[in-house]
Amino acid sequence: MTCALSIDLHTHSNHSDGTLTPAALVQRAVAAGVQVLALTDHDTVSGLQEARHESLGTGLDLVPGVEISALWRAQSIHILGLWIDPAAPELRRQLAAQEERRRQRMRKMCARLTHLALPGDELLAAVEAMPGLPTRTHLAAALCAGGHVREPQEAFRRYLRKGKPAHVAAGWPPLDEVVGWIGAAGGIASLAHPARYALSAGARRQLLADFVAAGGRALEVVSGGGGASHVDASAMLAVRFGLVGSVGSDFHDPRQIWNPLGRSLKLPDCVVPVWRAFGL
Ligand code: AMP
Ligand code: MN
Ligand code: MN
Ligand code: MN
Repeated sequence: MTCALSIDLHTHSNHSDGTLTPAALVQRAVAAGVQVLALTDHDTVSGLQEARHESLGTGLDLVPGVEISALWRAQSIHILGLWIDPAAPELRRQLAAQEERRRQRMRKMCARLTHLALPGDELLAAVEAMPGLPTRTHLAAALCAGGHVREPQEAFRRYLRKGKPAHVAAGWPPLDEVVGWIGAAGGIASLAHPARYALSAGARRQLLADFVAAGGRALEVVSGGGGASHVDASAMLAVRFGLVGSVGSDFHDPRQIWNPLGRSLKLPDCVVPVWRAFGL
């Protein structure tokens, strides 16, 4: 007899653009009955120690993770590193470079806002006073708090989305390099939310082929926000490219009640789960 585990392998804390501390995130996961939880902050592993500490004695299996921004062709993509060693020297060095890219890009985005007659310096100071490695989510929150937009979505729509006037490309490293850092840190690279990229079906298959060639091993088949049809399409891609499957809510904030922690997230039977290799 098998017993279904509650597994969520994609979540954020306030070390990136989530709102909960790592400890509060773990407590919430335990209360929600999540048994296996990966903390996967954007381009940082700085929350993992606190999350690990909080998980001790709870029975929750805390998977050390990260969500790294990369570039494939002109498309920004996200690659999850799961079961990584957060102390691995090459990964640490590369994440320090990612941090610098994020900080530089934030300064450039705020300079663009200044050109748009918004108080860019004030917005930058507001972002820098917030916890976490800066993301566009932080800047959207600052624009909202300053009364320049009514809600964060509007900030993305008017200023921050690709093609909008304050969007700045961060100069993310190429996909194969990022997959390499994850492998060198002993982790499994899983391509996050594959349905979310604005790619044709053919380009998506090419992305998968390049990801596999680079050493990518998993696909996030079930992802928060994706509909059932995306799950089926992603499951077919996983099978076709010989990838194991991961599942994750992409939880950021308990106020987003439509996307709770551990919302997961049943992997279709045709896909081999990534956690099987870990005896789960
Ligand atoms: P960044 O990695 O700095 O480009 O920021 C990307 C983050 O912004 C994503 O991880 C999401 O959490 C958030 N995000 C992206 N697009 C939107 C959007 N249209 N509305 C709200 N949040 C978004
Ligand atoms: Mn995010
Ligand atoms: Mn993502
Ligand atoms: Mn995410």
